[in-house]
Amino acid sequence: MSVIVFADTRGEKVAKSALETLTYGRKLASKDGASLTLVTFGDASVDKLAALDANKVVVARNIGDADSQQLTRLVADVATKEGATWIVFSHDDTGKAVAPRVGAKLNAGEVAGAITLPNDQGLIKRNVFSGKAQAWVELKTPVKVISLLPNSIPVEAATGTAAVEEYSGDLGTAKVTVKEVRKAGEGIPLPEAEVVVSAGRGMKGPENWGMVEELAKELHAATACSRPVSDMDWRPHHEHVGQTGIAIRPNLYIAIGISGAIQHLAGVNGSKVIAVINTDPEAPFFKAADYGIVGDAFEVLPKLIEAAKKLNAER
Ligand SMILES: Cc1cc2nc3c(=O)[nH]c(=O)nc-3n(C[C@H](O)[C@H](O)[C@H](O)COP(=O)(O)OP(=O)(O)OC[C@H]3O[C@@H](n4cnc5c(N)ncnc54)[C@H](O)[C@@H]3O)c2cc1C
Repeated sequence: MSVIVFADTRGEKVAKSALETLTYGRKLASKDGASLTLVTFGDASVDKLAALDANKVVVARNIGDADSQQLTRLVADVATKEGATWIVFSHDDTGKAVAPRVGAKLNAGEVAGAITLPNDQGLIKRNVFSGKAQAWVELKTPVKVISLLPNSIPVEAATGTAAVEEYSGDLGTAKVTVKEVRKAGEGIPLPEAEVVVSAGRGMKGPENWGMVEELAKELHAATACSRPVSDMDWRPHHEHVGQTGIAIRPNLYIAIGISGAIQHLAGVNGSKVIAVINTDPEAPFFKAADYGIVGDAFEVLPKLIEAAKKLNAER
């Protein structure tokens, strides 16, 4: 019996999402008395993964920009060899593409976007209707696939010395070729950020984003925006959150000059705490907010930045 965790950790750093899935997998494994195998690929920093308290790390090298079909073959093959009962992914772009394919290949039921471990009845919670409701799901298949929504469970650090195994199976050739990779900058990746400072059309124009960025810097936060803001090229598209953008679940989401349309809320209503700054006391966002400031962003932001600077200086 074994639990498989897929870790998409390209490059030097082990992503927070990989640590979350590993924590999730470790808890499943200890509950079932199962072994834990991490599966990864490419130039992943295997040494770092091997020091993360799994029983084994299986790495497929030399598959370059692996596409979803190759990764499906990799995970399904390792899962079959290991006799996996649970296969855990992060519900990120790769997980969304690969987890259902692995489920179909292994006749496994899947919970897409799980936010909890199975409870005593074996039920797993996930968001439905764009996060407006939650469903408890039971998987009855012998092999179960989970894709874990980022920032749903706290990372529990643990160290170990896992055996590293090079994968030698045939994964075929990629049908998708990556022509160019554009990095989204050096800041904290939005899906991994614990604090997000986000702004909308209320900021009037791109020239006013200095304040948003400054507050984000002081709070060690990532920046985000509403869709019209990225549509108008005030901000890059990778910052757009919502139904048609990225869905995030930070510990704190600060929404500045954003009305709170349902399509925006769909991407942020999983945030643990929401703080809203808006001149309009009737703005729909206030209904979803834990804290609200009715006020002009151009007056409120400088005060918040000053307060954050003072706090940081006192630390
Ligand atoms: C199919 C579909 C999908 C969509 N997907 C998304 C999505 O993924 N993400 C998304 O964001 N939107 C999405 N939208 C658009 C969405 O419906 C809203 O139009 C959009 O979210 C509004 O953006 P906004 O709040 O920045 O702008 P506005 O609606 O113009 O709101 C601006 C807010 O700023 C406030 N304000 C103005 N001046 C100030 C000031 N000085 N200080 C403080 N507050 C101020 C105003 O009171 C207002 O509440 C989608 C729409 C459709 C139809």
